[in-house]
Amino acid sequence: MTDGHIHIERGPYTLDWIDRFVEAAVKTQTDEIGLLEHSYRFEEFLPMYTSVRAHSDYIDQWLHRKGGAASLDAYLKLIGRVREISYPVSVKFGIEVCYFEDYEGFVSDILRDRGLDFAVGSVHFVDGFAFDHKSEHWNGADVDTVYRRFFETSVKLADCGVYDGLAHPDSIKLYGHRPSFPLKAYYDRLAKSLAESGMYAEQNSGVYRRCAPTVALGMDAELIRSLKAHGVRLVSASDAHCPEDVGTYVAEALRLVEQA
Ligand SMILES: [Zn+2]
Ligand SMILES: [Zn+2]
Repeated sequence: MTDGHIHIERGPYTLDWIDRFVEAAVKTQTDEIGLLEHSYRFEEFLPMYTSVRAHSDYIDQWLHRKGGAASLDAYLKLIGRVREISYPVSVKFGIEVCYFEDYEGFVSDILRDRGLDFAVGSVHFVDGFAFDHKSEHWNGADVDTVYRRFFETSVKLADCGVYDGLAHPDSIKLYGHRPSFPLKAYYDRLAKSLAESGMYAEQNSGVYRRCAPTVALGMDAELIRSLKAHGVRLVSASDAHCPEDVGTYVAEALRLVEQA
């Protein structure tokens, strides 16, 4: 079993901290872990967030607290040290980047020649709307429009050629909002773009762990079927933010992939 999306942000860049994730992987019979950091943790990426800061005081304050708190050089040094050690599980290192259409080249320039194992792109903002922070932020939102723009933005991410994978492909549903129209056409369009770009999609248990019961575990079965039909590789992931959450609901989420 793989857990391809695990945040290490709550601890220091030390081998002891990495050991905690490896131990959690062994305990949960996870044979590969993808450790990563959010793009906003590094100063290099902060210019991307100018428009969303202007869009919302909440996001501005959130980035004031969290933005640029870690050093990309220190992260890369840690990766170098970890690679010299032999672990009982495969340990990969990557980054989860917030997708902004105007910053595709910017991101690709930052990531070039850094030696990361993977870069996963995420739609965390829909036309500036940070939809996954608090359910009350949806008050007054036009759900149909947010859904349309979420999937249109996801297709752009898949087409841009910068990322290896797409994180949590239908996380837009996390607080239980549903559009008035069927999503099948968007699912097929997204699956086609991911296939053409050679990207994987995550079967991610994170929003379920955070937001159940408003959200079911993993992707909608109809989306899974569309991804499978287009030959898109699916990577299971917990979106853990601490060692204790490594592997949580991942086996269950994989079972749903088989059943879809
Ligand atoms: Zn994410
Ligand atoms: Zn994440």
